[in-house]
Amino acid sequence: MRVLVVEDDPRIAADVAAALRSAGYVPELVADGEDAWFRGDTEDYAAIVLDLGLPGMDGLSVLKRWRQGKRMVPVLVLTARGDWAERVEGIDAGADDYLPKPFRVEELLARLRAIIRRSSGVAAPVLSAGAVQLDPRQMRVSVAGLPVALSVLEYRLVTYLMLNRGRVVPQQELMDHVYGHDSERESNALEVLLGRVRRKLPPSLIETRRGFGYLIAAED
Ligand code: CA
Repeated sequence: MRVLVVEDDPRIAADVAAALRSAGYVPELVADGEDAWFRGDTEDYAAIVLDLGLPGMDGLSVLKRWRQGKRMVPVLVLTARGDWAERVEGIDAGADDYLPKPFRVEELLARLRAIIRRSSGVAAPVLSAGAVQLDPRQMRVSVAGLPVALSVLEYRLVTYLMLNRGRVVPQQELMDHVYGHDSERESNALEVLLGRVRRKLPPSLIETRRGFGYLIAAED
């Protein structure tokens, strides 16, 4: 899943990106407010981590402009510790959650999982479809209670489709969230990856809709 990280402190940005990568996400870094607004407005992210103090355009203005433009992507705002006014402003501007600096990356990951889950309309921390269960906290997948070992790419693919259950996900969108937006991939790479997933999980789990995309059906 693609996550946009908007942070002008290179050390924090690198720490957050490393934590996201190790949790199976595809992070993209931006350090400037104008650039952040443009990316969030034109690209498709599962969530955005947004620092408020930014060069170019401040984070609150960026967030307000996304929301005015009806961009409903879940946003986790990074605020200064103890600055309650900043937190209130952030929430009023449309933030889904906030995290005061300095923070532990474990807490950032937990809050991110929660806002992504809520934006997908999923209440439980564990995602399930039929006999398949996926626990984003542990990055574990099981079938009928038995653990299944997935590679990072396979895990990203299954997670993204699980979170978008009931919706046909276009091939390009799925590729962006599995490989990252800038990577050069042939579309048959995705077919090969899907083939591997189908050998490990129930083959009927992911449907291919030719010319449209891929789907995990909403009902069992
Ligand atoms: Ca900053």
